[in-house]
Amino acid sequence: MTINIALYPWQAQQWQRFCEQQKQQRLAHAIIVSGVAGLGKASFANAMVASVLCESAESDSACGKCHSCNLFFSGNHPDHTAIVPEQGSSSIKIEQIRSLKDKQELTPTVANWKTVIINPADKMTISAFNSLLKLLEEPQNNTLIILVTAQSDRLPITIISRCQTVKLSSPEPQLTLEWLEQQQQIDSATLALILPLSNGAPLAALTMLQNGLAEQIQSLNSDFESLLSGDANPIEMTKKWLQYDPLMIFHHLQHLIKHTLCCSQDELTNNNSKRYWYIYDCIISAIKLTSSSNNINKTLLIEQFMVAIMDKSLSSTLAVKS
Ligand SMILES: [Zn+2]
Repeated sequence: MTINIALYPWQAQQWQRFCEQQKQQRLAHAIIVSGVAGLGKASFANAMVASVLCESAESDSACGKCHSCNLFFSGNHPDHTAIVPEQGSSSIKIEQIRSLKDKQELTPTVANWKTVIINPADKMTISAFNSLLKLLEEPQNNTLIILVTAQSDRLPITIISRCQTVKLSSPEPQLTLEWLEQQQQIDSATLALILPLSNGAPLAALTMLQNGLAEQIQSLNSDFESLLSGDANPIEMTKKWLQYDPLMIFHHLQHLIKHTLCCSQDELTNNNSKRYWYIYDCIISAIKLTSSSNNINKTLLIEQFMVAIMDKSLSSTLAVKS
């Protein structure tokens, strides 16, 4: 196991702030690292911990060479605890947080600090949160607890109020494009297809590109246009769409229609406008159904959606713009 402590260009400001606080010995006892998926929150948290545990004081980042760094990078540091949901479970349980308390009371063995990363912190059960709260209420010296979450609104306010929050944000599209260009070939048109779905998060966009999502979206766009013009065969097309992630399909169509409704209002006739709002409504319903149930009949859901939005009486006078 190798621990990833990569820092990305869009984290520079937050990293700088952390380093200053560390230098001034003003580090918070507990830090929440938040932001949408695909911003590198986990590696940022690892970098903070590595920097705190490192024995060398020469630079801001961990040296990667000392005994403490070696232990951390191999995932074996006795003064660090990583808490994730146990295998086969989706939540972080009270026992996992309770075991922390005993560890926190011990003095560090290798480094000068004891560190904890809880990821994803929003997966803690209510009793786990309460147990953590007790720990946060009696902070120990030289202890750093980091909560990593993409959904900080799911953390109790009592927890949030006892932590410093480091919020990572999606960079400007231009920076995302530049960074992605360094990783693999991409043009701005392809990026424009992917960006809304990845919430502007570069790492999420990269994964999507590597999974061929740009091609899927292009194909979805042309399918969608033929549905709107009534030229499609929903049964045949459903077979194709079933190969895609249903949530991806509907989120993408949501962005597409939203864009048409917001940016092309002048071009929309009254009738068309009504139709697009109706389609938007169908998409929202489909997203709700897809997100709420695991054993949903995907074939039925997609077919129903297609039939609902096809309407031969209204010709598609306005092509959907991506
Ligand atoms: Zn080191």
